[in-house]
Amino acid sequence: MTNGGSAKGEVAVIGGGIAGLSAAVFLAEKGYRIRLYEASPKLGGRAYSFFDKDKGRFFDNGQHLLAGWYKDTIRYLKIIGSYDMLEFQERLRIDYLEKGQGMLSLSSTGLKPPANLLTGLLRFKGFDLKEKMKLFNLRKIMKNEAGTDGITAEDLLEAHGQSGNLRKYFWDPFILAVFNTEPRNVAASLLTDLLSGSMADSRGFTLVLPGKDLNKVFIEPAEHFLLDRNCEIHKSTRITGYDMDERMNYLTTDDTKMIFAEYYISALPFFGFSDVFGNRFGSGSEKLRTSSIVSVHLFLKHRIAGLPGDDLGMAGLIGTRTQWLFRKSDDHLSLVISGSDALGVTKMKNEEIAAMCISELASCLKGFEADNVSDFRVIKEKRATFIPDTESIKHRPSQRTEADNFFIAGDWTDTGLPSTIEGAVRSASVCAMMIDENSK
Ligand SMILES: Cc1cc2nc3c(=O)[nH]c(=O)nc-3n(C[C@H](O)[C@H](O)[C@H](O)COP(=O)(O)OP(=O)(O)OC[C@H]3O[C@@H](n4cnc5c(N)ncnc54)[C@H](O)[C@@H]3O)c2cc1C
Repeated sequence: MTNGGSAKGEVAVIGGGIAGLSAAVFLAEKGYRIRLYEASPKLGGRAYSFFDKDKGRFFDNGQHLLAGWYKDTIRYLKIIGSYDMLEFQERLRIDYLEKGQGMLSLSSTGLKPPANLLTGLLRFKGFDLKEKMKLFNLRKIMKNEAGTDGITAEDLLEAHGQSGNLRKYFWDPFILAVFNTEPRNVAASLLTDLLSGSMADSRGFTLVLPGKDLNKVFIEPAEHFLLDRNCEIHKSTRITGYDMDERMNYLTTDDTKMIFAEYYISALPFFGFSDVFGNRFGSGSEKLRTSSIVSVHLFLKHRIAGLPGDDLGMAGLIGTRTQWLFRKSDDHLSLVISGSDALGVTKMKNEEIAAMCISELASCLKGFEADNVSDFRVIKEKRATFIPDTESIKHRPSQRTEADNFFIAGDWTDTGLPSTIEGAVRSASVCAMMIDENSK
C-alpha cells in the first residue's frame, strides 16, 4: 500500500511508545508521510512484551487494564485492526478478596449512568446504611460546584463524607488503579473530570483487558499498518537535540545526522523530554515525580479449582500491599502492586516481594497454599507513571507549542487524564488533528 499519491506533508515523530505510534497511525491514515525515531531497539515504550527464555513465552512488562472510557484507544485499535483482541466486561464488576471475609462483589446495574454505578454501590454488601446514604453525594462530587483549584482527591472525598468502607472498597482501590498513587497525591480536578467523562456513557466504567500480549494488541499491528503505508520506522535511533538554521528547525540524532521535516511531534516520556529539548516549549517535565508499579507472576504446581475472579478473571485484594489478582490460566496468576515505591515494595528484593505476595494471597484466597508455587517472576517498572498532584498538573504542557510546526504528545501532556494509555493516545489524537488543521 502507498500514501495514495497524497501531497500531505512529512512528519517526524520522536519516540515509538503508544503516543508516538498512535500519532503516526492517525496521520498515516490521512496520507501524511511519517518518519518515526525510537531510541531503543523495540517499540512500545512503557507498554511492551518481552520473551522469557526459561519459560519459553512472552510476558507483558505489567498488566494493563483499560476501561470503557478509553475512546481514543478504541479508535486507534480499530484503525490498526486489533480491536477484536480486547475483552470487555458487560457491566462493571469487581470481586474483592479480604482476609477473614467471604468474597464481596461490586457490580453496576443496567440503568442509565450515573444510576447504574450508584445502584450497584447501594447494593454492595460491604457498605453499611450510613455509608450508603453518603453515596448520594456522588453527583455533587462529579459536579464539583465548590471548585477544585489546589485541592486533592483526598480533600474532595473528605468534603463529601466519603470515608470508612466507601474509601476501603471503592475510592482507594479505584484511585490507586487509575492514578497509580494515593488520593492525597491526586489533583481533585482530574478525578472529577474522569468521573464525569466515564459517566457520560453507560459502559464508561466497565473494565477492559487486552486479550493477548501487549505487543500483539498495541504494537505489532501499528508497526505493520505504518510499514504498509511506506512510513519509515527507525529503531535504535536516539534523537539528541533540536535546533534551528536560518530557514528551518531540525532534529539531530546520536550519529549526528540532521533531520528536517515539515512537522515534528515529540512523543518522548516526561523523564526524557528535557534531555533533548531542555526547558523549551514551556514544559516542566523535569518537575513531574515518578511512581512505580511492581508485577508478580506466580506459577502453580497444581491448578486451584474455582479460582475467584469476574468474567475478566480478575479480583481486587483488600488490606494487603498486593492489590489485584489476574487469573492468566489455572496454573498462572499475575499480581499487581501499584504505587509500589510509596508502599516500600519497589526497593525490596524480588524474592522478598514474591514471598510477601504469596503470603498475602494465602491469607485471603481460599485453596491457595504457599507450597503450591513452583516459580515466580517479578517485574519492577520504576518510572511507570507520573504523580498527578496539584503542583504537577501545572507543568503538563499543551500539545501545541510556540513553534507552529512542533507538537508534544505523551501521557504526561495536558490531556486532563491520568498517566495512561488513553492519555497517550488522546494526546496523539490532538497533535494529529492540529497538524491536519494547519495543513489546510
Ligand atoms: C507496569 C505498568 C503498568 C501500567 N498499567 C497501565 C494500565 O493498567 N492502564 C493504562 O492505561 N496505563 C498503564 N500504564 C501506563 C502506560 O503504559 C503509559 O501511560 C503509556 O504506555 C505511555 O506511553 P507514551 O507513548 O506516552 O510514553 P512511553 O511509553 O514512555 O514512550 C516514549 C518512547 O520514547 C522513546 N524515547 C525516549 N527517549 C528518546 C529519544 N531521545 N529519541 C527517540 N526515542 C526516545 C522511549 O524509548 C519510548 O519508546 C502502565 C505502565 C506500566 C509501566
